[in-house]
Amino acid sequence: MSIQRTALVVGVSNKRSLAWSSAIALLQGQFDHVIVTYQNDRFKSSIEGLVAKQNDFMNNIQATARLPAHVPKLVTCLSCDVSEESEIQSLFHERIPFLLHDRNEQMARISSSSSSSRIKLDALVHSVAFAPSQAMKSSSEFPLLNTTLEEYNTAHSISAHSLLSMSKHALPLLSCSDTHDADCEAFPTGRSPSITALTYLGSARAVRNYNIMGPAKASLEACVRGIAMEISPPPHKIRVNAISAGPVNTLAARGIRDFNGLKHEAEERSFLKRSVTAEEVGSMVEFVAGSRASGVTGQVLFCDGGYSSYGG
Ligand code: NAD
Repeated sequence: MSIQRTALVVGVSNKRSLAWSSAIALLQGQFDHVIVTYQNDRFKSSIEGLVAKQNDFMNNIQATARLPAHVPKLVTCLSCDVSEESEIQSLFHERIPFLLHDRNEQMARISSSSSSSRIKLDALVHSVAFAPSQAMKSSSEFPLLNTTLEEYNTAHSISAHSLLSMSKHALPLLSCSDTHDADCEAFPTGRSPSITALTYLGSARAVRNYNIMGPAKASLEACVRGIAMEISPPPHKIRVNAISAGPVNTLAARGIRDFNGLKHEAEERSFLKRSVTAEEVGSMVEFVAGSRASGVTGQVLFCDGGYSSYGG
């Protein structure tokens, strides 16, 4: 029975989400099972619909191709509000292990072999950000200067601390410490567990209207480097990176004043003279999260058409 690769992608709100394009790219690439999470019940039925449609699509491909008995790729969804530590805890210690156990039994039934005891995650993708709308006014109103402690804490807690919290609880599921080396880092098909976060250039440059999200992304990127130093060495061997994406029209992006103006400017100044697409960001996530990038950790990698290298 072949080893299944499983990824968790946190932060789907609709089909435009970078989390969703990442999930699709992971399924098209090295991953067999992708678990996506949405924030709360408000998103439940629409995300369940999206997931059901994707599973139908993948099952149809398999049926049309008349593949031999083979476990189809699968996407499943769970809810997780990252502002609640108890939800993160139950996600990694109860709900994901339960799903993985179910998946092992399904595979064993299809391939008529005994069920595997492997309860492992191979990748975690963090695609979550939030700042209160009060803090996201136009720069002309000095919103950063007037950020309250509560707004500051909320933006940093949801957008950066959640990476630490999720990484801590995901450690036993991701770690190589209890798996054999043959499965850990046998390039290019072996296990090279990873954590990948989505970030933006506003971490390093002053970007108008990005306000408190700039410091929150700077914190996220510093967390990426810091935890990469802690958990990349053996025995865990977990790579931790961030992808800094150019502007893509999503729900979160629409919370930024004059987002279209910022996007237009990025298009003009990028070397490709266009915006990147959600699919391109998803492909980059798939590469960095998968074992083909087994030598990459502690990095912030750009997928922005070259905009970040523009010097005027
Ligand atoms: P999105 O709105 O689709 O995704 C943001 C997600 O964060 C949503 O699913 C939302 O539900 C989730 N979220 C917010 N608070 C949460 C909470 N308490 N618990 C759980 N989930 C919560 O928008 P997106 O643009 O796909 O954003 C994904 C990531 O990509 C973010 O980190 C964003 O900063 C980053 N990013 C986006 C762009 C862009 O232009 N769209 C560019 C660079 C980086």
